[in-house]
Amino acid sequence: MQVIGVLGGMSWESTQSYYRALNEGVKQALGGFHSARIAMVSVDFAEIETLQQQGDWDKAGTLLADAAQSVERAGADFLLLATNTMHKVAPAIEQAISIPLLHIADATAERLRQDGITRVGLLGTRFTMEQDFYKARLQENFGIDVVVPDDAERESVHRIIFDELCQGVINDDSRKRYLDIIGNLRAQGAQAVILGCTEIALLVEQAHTDVTLYDTTALHASTAVARALNA
Ligand code: GLU
Repeated sequence: MQVIGVLGGMSWESTQSYYRALNEGVKQALGGFHSARIAMVSVDFAEIETLQQQGDWDKAGTLLADAAQSVERAGADFLLLATNTMHKVAPAIEQAISIPLLHIADATAERLRQDGITRVGLLGTRFTMEQDFYKARLQENFGIDVVVPDDAERESVHRIIFDELCQGVINDDSRKRYLDIIGNLRAQGAQAVILGCTEIALLVEQAHTDVTLYDTTALHASTAVARALNA
């Protein structure tokens, strides 16, 4: 079994989900006492969040590239960056390490393609919903059209991620707001919706809606387990 590298802490609320999903995936495949071989470095999210607000993506990239090198030195065979947003600096991280980065958007898009989804809604931080590093990858590399919520909805989705989900707060009104927004994405022709922030599945589950949801945390983790076991 290969060693799965995890660069987490963004936020730690969702890194817990990764840790559980990786171990459950290996246990499901191998049974018994088997668990995932993991090398993890978890950063202080306050530093990252400040750099995001300042728009200092270069500094964030340097910080995460250093942390990724620590993961590699700890023996990882490949790396998961356990956040959608910080894939904005994936190129800086990839340059700094010699192990492969398993990109969260690719893990998600591959499943969408297998399922025949050609138009998908995207929920995430405003960086993920508004900037090209994520949407363009789905569009250009996989031919998948991406629909995002309108301005006011994006503001709510982003605010709930940072003020609530990254701080361990789960709120019924916020779930309802998300479900309304998911419904609006479907009304715009989305065949499914990507939970493109690693904390969203803490709030919204498939059982809450009949719109098909693609949880990036679960897909990223299951792609990593398959890779670790097939190698
Ligand atoms: N975990 C989130 C994501 O998947 C947001 C936190 C961050 O900005 O890294 O985008």
